[in-house]
Amino acid sequence: MPSEATAGAILTIDLGAIRENYRRLQARLGAAQCAGVVKADGYGLGAAEVARALAAEGCTSFFIALLAEGVALRRALGPGPAIYVLNGLPPGSENEAVEAELAPVINSTAQLKAWGEAGLAAGRKLPAAIQVDSGMSRLGMPPAEVEALSREPTSFDGVAVTLVMSHLACADEPAHPANERQWLAFERLRKMLPEAPASLANSSGIFLGPAFHFDLVRPGAALYGINPTPAEPNPMLPVVRLQAKVVQTRSVEKGAGVGYGHTYRAEDPLGLATISLGYADGWHRRAASAAWFENVRLPFVGRVSMDSIILDISALPQGKLGAGDLVELLGPSQSVDDAAGHAGTIGYEILTSLGPRFHRRYT
Ligand code: PLP
Repeated sequence: MPSEATAGAILTIDLGAIRENYRRLQARLGAAQCAGVVKADGYGLGAAEVARALAAEGCTSFFIALLAEGVALRRALGPGPAIYVLNGLPPGSENEAVEAELAPVINSTAQLKAWGEAGLAAGRKLPAAIQVDSGMSRLGMPPAEVEALSREPTSFDGVAVTLVMSHLACADEPAHPANERQWLAFERLRKMLPEAPASLANSSGIFLGPAFHFDLVRPGAALYGINPTPAEPNPMLPVVRLQAKVVQTRSVEKGAGVGYGHTYRAEDPLGLATISLGYADGWHRRAASAAWFENVRLPFVGRVSMDSIILDISALPQGKLGAGDLVELLGPSQSVDDAAGHAGTIGYEILTSLGPRFHRRYT
């Protein structure tokens, strides 16, 4: 990671806000436990740092997507917390998962068999979550497979089922009829499996009400400040601030072409600043149309380049902004959800795209 002095941009991650968001979610739960989803390197913000902050709030279950992410997280957290691998294990990698004390999310009978064999070879029952497909059609066992397993008494030999889970497809739209349909399907399917704690809700699912909480909820986005129910005001605290350094300022005459393709032409004499951030940093070319400096909006002009963006700084007094000064792209002046709306995408994609070029500052 580049140092603060040498980096072109600085990403500040407020671990205190993540902890507060965890507490806010927990406050909505009755007896249900709150896990932390830290896949994709903690939605791009640092899985180890985020998971340690959540563990300090009492979080004892974590979800990642890939085996390698699980191995790294176990190294960061040490023994104890449950770490579930959402995408399951590639065939033949069971021993690696056993060694790192990971619990696969089992999405098929073949995966269950392989994990059971690893358990029998190890002489103990190995922990696993069983995922059932309650209607999203993405991962998990379809109903017929769950029924077939439940009829066969040896299905779970070598496996300790520590969780039965499913995932909601439309939880961010509270009135969507799929939510109730999935709830009903999950209720039916989980009762066919060995008695184990149940988990259905992601961030948005928590806001569908207590019936969706079951024994464990699995928020990701809401912990990182993304609005779990986009049609409502955001109940979560913002977590990230992205600031880019000014590389150079200049004045241009009326009529000057600005940036690649001269897609912008100055209608008046302009003050411009070029900042050190572009699409190679994971900044979507269409995310947002301005940066901010001391509450003054500085519109982007011309195209976003690989490593730079040009700002119209005419709204500032001359000389107010210079090389090395920081302008804000994400933070109090522009939320992750705002930037996502601009780019026609979701906050998840904005966060997970933010690359390794920034200096990362944890507060
Ligand atoms: N559970 C599963 C199975 C997931 O795939 C995800 C993320 O996509 C989550 C929970 C967390 O979802 P969210 O970030 O919307 O809270």
